This record gives sequence, structure tokens and C-alpha cells, in this order.
Amino acid sequence: MTHSVVAGADKKASDEAPEGTIWVCPACSKTNTHRTNNWDTSCATWAVLCRKDTLKYEDGVLVSAEAVNDEKSEIPW
Ligand SMILES: [Zn+2]
Repeated sequence: MTHSVVAGADKKASDEAPEGTIWVCPACSKTNTHRTNNWDTSCATWAVLCRKDTLKYEDGVLVSAEAVNDEKSEIPW
């Protein structure tokens, strides 16, 4: 009995934004530390994991952010 099953834990971890990152909804510019909790279903559908230090605000409104998976891709608003 040497099997170790970690699939469940991995799945849960992937919904939580890892340290230094945050989920961003490109449709309404909301941010969230969890991919599906505490915001609209449509936000969860469109959410993109971004690097926190790339979030740019103008007059308190989020205007751009860099996606984690592709450092060259900026989310256009
Ligand atoms: Zn949204």
C-alpha cells in the first residue's frame, strides 16, 4: 500500500490564487483570491490568474494586468 492520492488537494489549491497572484475578471475588472467564491458566476467563467504586482490602477479602476500563464499577454480592457 504505497499509493498516495493527492488529486483532491491539487484541485482545491488551483482554485485558490497562489501567493503573489490574483484572479481577475476581464469583463468587470473585479479581483478575487478564489476562482469561484464570492463573485458572479460569469466572473468565475472569465477569471484569469494574474500577477499581483502587474495590476495597474487609474483613479481606483483596474486598467491592466499581466496573466500568469503567459508573461507576454496583457489583459485588454
Ligand atoms: Zn466579472
